[in-house]
Amino acid sequence: MTRYWYDTEFVEDGKTIDLISIGIVAEDGRELYMQSVEFDPRKASQWVKDHVLGYLKRCPNAKAIHGRDGLYYIDRADHKQGQCTFIEPMEYLGQLPRVGVYADCPWRRRDQIKYELLHFMNVDTYGKPELWGWCCGYDWVAFCQLFGTMMDLPPGYPHYMHDIQHVLDERGITDDQLPQAEGQAHNALTDARQIQKIWEFVNG
Ligand SMILES: [Zn+2]
Repeated sequence: MTRYWYDTEFVEDGKTIDLISIGIVAEDGRELYMQSVEFDPRKASQWVKDHVLGYLKRCPNAKAIHGRDGLYYIDRADHKQGQCTFIEPMEYLGQLPRVGVYADCPWRRRDQIKYELLHFMNVDTYGKPELWGWCCGYDWVAFCQLFGTMMDLPPGYPHYMHDIQHVLDERGITDDQLPQAEGQAHNALTDARQIQKIWEFVNG
């Protein structure tokens, strides 16, 4: 068994939960952060625009354009193919060109997110996942929908996630007693690290 703490950001309109980003911390220290190229930013609430979209990670390959208000970047819209890939220069083409990915490009298509999750949480390699979130009903749906329906969850994956808020409620722990968060709030990876910190606080 391996324990994972995770958080997502999403666009939500009362009917759909559209994944923006997902951050995961594994108890063995591995971390994963990915942003979907498939969410619709036009449907984002003002709160999400103000607190999430402006703070997404930018791909180092994003094209810089000089606009009226200064420099801005064509980033998500330029990643329809998902994560940036590179090919060996032509002069080395003796056999097949080797294609790799830029590790620091955060953008993924949803199917890329799915396969990377399957690798990151591989049941054969790391054991069954135990998932933890914080007030995580929506995070859980956003996670499941990467695989299809709830019945499409991979073999060995749980059909529920643990909510640290249940533990806090049971023990009468209030927010002001919790360890301080570090980094940019509402970044999925920062928030996943904070959930791990709270888990360690209540289990320490
Ligand atoms: Zn990129």
